[in-house]
Amino acid sequence: MADPITAAISAARFSYDLLSVAIAARDEAKIKSAQQELNERLTSALNTTLSQVQTMHALELETQKLRTELVETKGKNLELVREIEKRRGYVLAQPAPGKWAYTAPGSETGSPESTAYFCATCYAEKREIPLQYSKPRVHVEAWLNCPMERKHSLSLGGALPDSGRPEPDNPFARNW
Ligand SMILES: [Zn+2]
Repeated sequence: MADPITAAISAARFSYDLLSVAIAARDEAKIKSAQQELNERLTSALNTTLSQVQTMHALELETQKLRTELVETKGKNLELVREIEKRRGYVLAQPAPGKWAYTAPGSETGSPESTAYFCATCYAEKREIPLQYSKPRVHVEAWLNCPMERKHSLSLGGALPDSGRPEPDNPFARNW
């Protein structure tokens, strides 16, 4: 079957031929009706063409959208690959007994104060959030604080007594 535009144009051409015949025959009634028919056919051809153009435009937009989505998907895949590469080197460590945090690839593990620890809960949610060390104070334990979520924070123990005197040397308090 011919496409709608070709069909509309050949219908209009047929009306035009009818009009030519009517003109050649100098038949005024036929000329009038042929003119009217040609007019209708041309209008119909124009409408068909317009709706086809709109369809083409919609298809073009759809194609562009798909193209954009494809590029985005490719970008996301790349991000995922990078993330997997990046996360490969993170290692679980215990800044205090039973307290778990990640250390970055290639980093040294020393005291909680000097080690770059990352929140294990955030890590499980695909975020690498550095924990912030807070020193022990009177009645307050040392903490590794998660800036994202208070309840992710790790208590490390070692609160100081409230006397102004130095803490008696207690090997159990120091060496967990
Ligand atoms: Zn966290």
